[in-house]
Amino acid sequence: MTEQKPVTTDTAKAVPTLPDAQTVTSVTHWTDRLFSFRVTRPTSLRFRSGEFVMIGLMGDPHPETGKVKPLLRAYSIASPAWDDELEFYSIKVQDGPLTSRLQHIAVGDEIILRPKPVGTLVHDALLPGKRLWLFSTGTGFAPFASLLREPETYEKFEQVIVTHTCRDVAELEYSRKLIADLQADEMMQELIGVENLAKIRYYPTTTRENSAKMGRITTLLEDGTVFTDLGIDGITVGEDRAMVCGSMGLNTDIKVVLEGFGLQEGANSDPKHYVVEKAFVG
Ligand SMILES: Cc1cc2nc3c(=O)[nH]c(=O)nc-3n(C[C@H](O)[C@H](O)[C@H](O)COP(=O)(O)OP(=O)(O)OC[C@H]3O[C@@H](n4cnc5c(N)ncnc54)[C@H](O)[C@@H]3O)c2cc1C
Repeated sequence: MTEQKPVTTDTAKAVPTLPDAQTVTSVTHWTDRLFSFRVTRPTSLRFRSGEFVMIGLMGDPHPETGKVKPLLRAYSIASPAWDDELEFYSIKVQDGPLTSRLQHIAVGDEIILRPKPVGTLVHDALLPGKRLWLFSTGTGFAPFASLLREPETYEKFEQVIVTHTCRDVAELEYSRKLIADLQADEMMQELIGVENLAKIRYYPTTTRENSAKMGRITTLLEDGTVFTDLGIDGITVGEDRAMVCGSMGLNTDIKVVLEGFGLQEGANSDPKHYVVEKAFVG
């Protein structure tokens, strides 16, 4: 008689799950200040590429009551609306209430994700045009990582110019790699079209470390360098549309530049020539 091996059934561990919990599926650290991660997507979550949601972790217990509350922050969804998972591109603020802890997440961990997407960096907030400018600084590239992987972007525009400005070259790696991979990936070529992916013009600049192109994007627009470099006559109300996501400095200054070209700010309820969103508050 052959000995029968004991069959062990997997008893589900009683893991306390967070409210609106999603599971981390990958984490990539880009620099000591930047990382990206992917999480499972709630089946019911619908969003438009370019929108943001509130994500976070449970906060520390209240010193007296012991109660724990969710610690949530706004985050642009960096993945496109059709993706099975959700991607985020994050800063690491060493004394930041959320990111001092979020930067240590690992595959299998849970985060909280409130499934209520909102935002102005969406195609619905822009009038039709020929050329789409995506102006970003730092993690402000995140919503554009979504829009660049969205087929609608290329159906609506003949050219897509992405500018990304950071202090140092290493901080540009996420956007550089994302665009290079996007253009080389067979699945994306099939989904978006090789000729559509060729519409992307990537224009990275640094403000501190030496690189091929240095300077704030507003300065490079004002002195015409961007137009010379890209072989474009300039920005016109008839042809150009823009989305802006960056620091307060970028957002305020670029509004002046764009309005100088005659462009007007739009909104979901009132589409116009450009839209702006803060990459962070502070
Ligand atoms: C609409 C919107 C979308 C956002 N999307 C993203 C995103 O996709 N990725 C992301 O990393 N952050 C994003 N943020 C910022 C995010 O909400 C948090 O501020 C950030 O995660 C830091 O949280 P914290 O609790 O660690 O520190 P906080 O207390 O929130 O911030 C502390 C300080 O750190 C600085 N800071 C905060 N966020 C950034 C940043 N992204 N880049 C540079 N400095 C910053 C500011 O000076 C701020 O005062 C977004 C903010 C808004 C309003």
